[in-house]
This record gives sequence, C-alpha cells and structure tokens, in this order.
Amino acid sequence: MISTDYHSNASLEKANKRFNNIPINFEDLFETDRPTLGRNIDVVVYRALILSIINHLGFNSLSKLYHAGEDFGKNLGVKSIDDMIYCFKSLGIGILELVSKNPIKIQVYECIFCSGLPNIGEPVCYFEQGMISGCLNSILNKEVKVIETKCYATGYDYCEFDVKILKK
Ligand SMILES: [Zn+2]
Repeated sequence: MISTDYHSNASLEKANKRFNNIPINFEDLFETDRPTLGRNIDVVVYRALILSIINHLGFNSLSKLYHAGEDFGKNLGVKSIDDMIYCFKSLGIGILELVSKNPIKIQVYECIFCSGLPNIGEPVCYFEQGMISGCLNSILNKEVKVIETKCYATGYDYCEFDVKILKK
C-alpha cells in the first residue's frame, strides 16, 4: 500500500537495471501479484535474509553487502534529501532525519534491520549504510563513503551515519 504510493511517485525515476544474469529488472520488483498477502512481509524475513547472506557469502561479505545496498540506493532514483526521507519511510526502511548538513550526518529511527536487536557492541547495518550511500550518490552526483557510528546494536535507539564525500 505505502510502497505503491512510493512506486507511483512520478518524481522518482526508476533505472531499468538487470541483475547479473537473472533477467529481472529493478522496475519488475515493484509488481506484486499477492491478492491475499499484499506487499508487506515481516521484518524477520528481511533480517534473516541479510544474516544468511553474511553467513554464506564469506570473505568480504560485509563490504559486498554495502555495495549491494549502494546499487539499490542508486536504483531508487531519489533527487533530494526529502525524496530520500519519503522513500525510506514509504518502503518501511526507517525514519530518516538529516541532523547535520556539513558534514552530512544522518539518523535513522526504527531501522528495518537493527531496531530491537540486542546490544552486541558493534554496528550491523551494512546494507542500509550502502543504501544511504547510493541515495546520496544520486542526490549529490558524488561518490560518498557512509559509516555507521551508532546503532541499535550498540545500545542506541537509532542508527547514526557519518557521510564522507570522496574526492575524485
Ligand atoms: Zn543500525
């Protein structure tokens, strides 16, 4: 329902990207034929998927997940911070706030991956860091590096991301 609103937002341009050798385009992901269950799934499915990817991808899995998130963020086609805030909320990724413009610092409340997880003493939102990076790349037209400095998994009730703009 909410995601459909996001999908129909004309200001958001969709890239038509094919995933490796699987002939499915990013745009195809928005179509669902689930008359009983609808568009939504429990976050536990998403969380289990991310954890199983980390477990099975092995070496460098965290940075691969970051880059995968980055691709996803770029595909969302956001044009402004407001677009990004709207997109994160409508897709149920989290409630995003820009807390500093220079340097850019972002907080995400109710994060899809970590909100409610135990405090394990390290940030865990690798895919989400990548998503933020990809979105900011689209908005700023610059390469950025996003680092999660606070997380529900480090004892906060939000995630905080520091953004470094990389010089080309
Ligand atoms: Zn987090």
